[in-house]
Amino acid sequence: MKLPVYLDHHSTTPLDPRVLEAMQPFLKENFANAASAQHVLGKEVEKCVAHARESVAALIGARRDEIIFTSGTTESNNQVFWSAREIYAKKGKHIISQQTEHRSVLEPLKALEKEGFRVTYLPVNVKGEINLKDLEQAVTNETILISLMHANNEIGTVHPIEAIGKIAKSKQVLFHVDAAQTSGKLRIDVEQMGIDLLSFSAHKMYGPKGVGALYIRRKNPHVRVAPLILGGGHENGLRSGTLNVPGIIGFGKTCELAALETDQDFKHTQVLRNHLQHRLTHELDLVFVHGAAKERLPHNLSVSFSCTESDALMMAVQDKLAVSSGSACVSGTTHVSHVLKALNLEGDLAQTTIRFGIGKFNKLEEIDFAADQIIEAVKNLRAMSPIYQDMKAKGIG
Ligand SMILES: *Cc1c(COP(=O)(O)O)cnc(C)c1O
Repeated sequence: MKLPVYLDHHSTTPLDPRVLEAMQPFLKENFANAASAQHVLGKEVEKCVAHARESVAALIGARRDEIIFTSGTTESNNQVFWSAREIYAKKGKHIISQQTEHRSVLEPLKALEKEGFRVTYLPVNVKGEINLKDLEQAVTNETILISLMHANNEIGTVHPIEAIGKIAKSKQVLFHVDAAQTSGKLRIDVEQMGIDLLSFSAHKMYGPKGVGALYIRRKNPHVRVAPLILGGGHENGLRSGTLNVPGIIGFGKTCELAALETDQDFKHTQVLRNHLQHRLTHELDLVFVHGAAKERLPHNLSVSFSCTESDALMMAVQDKLAVSSGSACVSGTTHVSHVLKALNLEGDLAQTTIRFGIGKFNKLEEIDFAADQIIEAVKNLRAMSPIYQDMKAKGIG
């Protein structure tokens, strides 16, 4: 077993060897610029990029001409909000989103607020779910965009995208989805789900870093976006700059693999996640699992070990496990993530949260090893915790 065991797949994923293999010729002999239509080398690369675009589009039920390549979800999200400012502000200046979005949504929204936009951040319940009635009631004549993530990157809660798409359509408001955590993990169909704009990244789905896409609906309605980056007019003038050909080829390949293997990867990671959850909740007391019980990413386990500060726990296992916590200790004070804050958790649950993100290459023995390590470390830390000893003495837990 290679140490540390990598269980942080929400943050990024390793490259699938088959993707690396597909990319290699484009880092060597097939180096031509995809925009160099005057010679055969350029034309050949252009053809391969077109094929990759087809594969990326097919994964989400879109057409090739509805995809532009970007550097990733952060850029795609930014382009959507930039477009709201450049194109849609004339129709209204109200946007609806929610509290547990990624910072690549929240920060551009903050910038828009400074420019006179009004943003409604829908609240979430303790499981990270929004209330669809709140959403419907938030829509006004001024609303131009609903932007919601498909699944949350910390607690794994999956939002009811199809139902939200229906609301957006009935109110004639554009619907943007950040699908960084779900592309290649859950089935996505932009038609069935009523999505107008969708952002995703290759590196969250076993592809290369620094490449992603923005899906832009071309029909019913015809959705317009404005370029964030001006220059040579690449990507129909919507995203200038020489294409990242090796990245795009890798992205295409990873989407082809996902189209075939999503269901099997879903089952594999879900079995491992359930096993880890079962062991942690049965072999330790005072353990709380976050996120929705059912509508949840198959590979996510966000869990609190009460009376065990996540910083201390992370430290105890750092040579053996690569996991993430929901809080960071910055110069002596604990900063809880905005996602855990939005859940209004009781007691010390936010400060004691660990996030496990299981990947398709993880094996059962790695999960058992992780469970062993965590259980031992939690027991050791609790043995030194006066609060825990006091709770036990009072019979709590
Ligand atoms: C990772 C992630 C992003 C950012 O993706 P980049 O590839 O770093 O731009 C945005 N949203 C969510 C939900 C994510 O998980």
